[in-house]
Amino acid sequence: MNLSKTIEEIRTEFPILSIKVYGKPLIYLDNGATTQKPEQVIRVMEELYRTSNANVHRGVHRLSDMVSDRYEAARETVRAFINAPKREEIIFTAGTTASINAVAFSFGERFVGEGDEIVISGMEHHANIVPWQMLCERKKAKLKVIPFTDEGVLDLEAYRGMLTERTRIVAVTHVSNVLGTVNPVKEIVAEAHSHGIPVLVDGAQGIQHGIVDVSEIGCDFYVFSGHKVYGPNGIGVLYGKENLLNEIPPYQGGGDMVANVTFEKTTYNELPFKFEAGTTNFTGAIGMAAALDYLSSLGREAVAEREQTLLARATSGMSAIEGLRIYGTAPHKVSVISFLPGAIHPYDAGMILDKMGIAVRTGTHCAQPVMERYGITGTIRASIAFYNTEEEIDAVLRGIGRVTEMFA
Ligand code: PMP
Repeated sequence: MNLSKTIEEIRTEFPILSIKVYGKPLIYLDNGATTQKPEQVIRVMEELYRTSNANVHRGVHRLSDMVSDRYEAARETVRAFINAPKREEIIFTAGTTASINAVAFSFGERFVGEGDEIVISGMEHHANIVPWQMLCERKKAKLKVIPFTDEGVLDLEAYRGMLTERTRIVAVTHVSNVLGTVNPVKEIVAEAHSHGIPVLVDGAQGIQHGIVDVSEIGCDFYVFSGHKVYGPNGIGVLYGKENLLNEIPPYQGGGDMVANVTFEKTTYNELPFKFEAGTTNFTGAIGMAAALDYLSSLGREAVAEREQTLLARATSGMSAIEGLRIYGTAPHKVSVISFLPGAIHPYDAGMILDKMGIAVRTGTHCAQPVMERYGITGTIRASIAFYNTEEEIDAVLRGIGRVTEMFA
């Protein structure tokens, strides 16, 4: 499967990829933290501000109408991109974190009480831990954690044993932002559903690296951020099944989420507006839709295949570096590699790589429990996107080689 454009063509569409840092060509390998934006996204947002800006869903005037139509078209783009059954099931939020907090609050208000249990996994980002802990604290509920193996594979046997009649929701990540593991979310959902338990899937990383089909996964909620999928930041998605979204209360009150307001009683708007209080980030939503269209036009399977090719090159190169350990060696993983070159502190290595123009992430990656699981304080993470090149991977491998020589 080929991309619809050459890598050279693609790279010219991402203006930032041709900048220099410290006089060296930028090698951007921090795509797990945020992705770069193509001209197609930048242009749409600029054009919106230049020619069509007005508040969404607010006025009868032409500009407001035009923006509202484009905002709703963006919702349809998202729906189609993740194959959700209905447009009303797509809620625009500020991002993954906002979406998870919304579910933890609203679902928690409606369905979680004292002594109930919530199941998450040991490889979650803090965004899929802390909102559930806060809920548990509020409701005196209990958090249970699915363990994972040294390779970074969830222990499904343990998971099955964890589900009880007190389990109210399961919340797991599609893809680990540290280990790169692609979790068997379809299986996880099927198991939970056989007990009548709904499942939230954190798709912050999943959306970037593969084809996400929420109808196939069967999950009740799927959440992701625009900025991790080549779109703007400050915008994200909460997909939820219509029946559940109808059952849970709104988590924010304000304009647009209401049907009728009096001081005695307020009634709420229908989906999706019930969960979109106030002026939403409509520019972001339209920009994010442009990013999704861009990915679709490249060929989503081809994007995933290219990333796997680059991952294989990086993995085999790193495996040949003496003393280097890769954290996360699951058979099914995406192009995210966490590693430690011997006893060298990740910050030291990261700073030296930075001076070579190489942007990697160092630290705990907002996943402290993963670090604890391995008894380490942090890793270096190279997260690869389709616009990275073989030459960049080789340059990073040489860079790591230099770092290890310097500390030898
Ligand atoms: N979950 C995972 C797996 C992530 O990788 C991230 C971002 N690093 C988040 C949640 C949070 O995303 P955001 O900061 O865009 O809300």
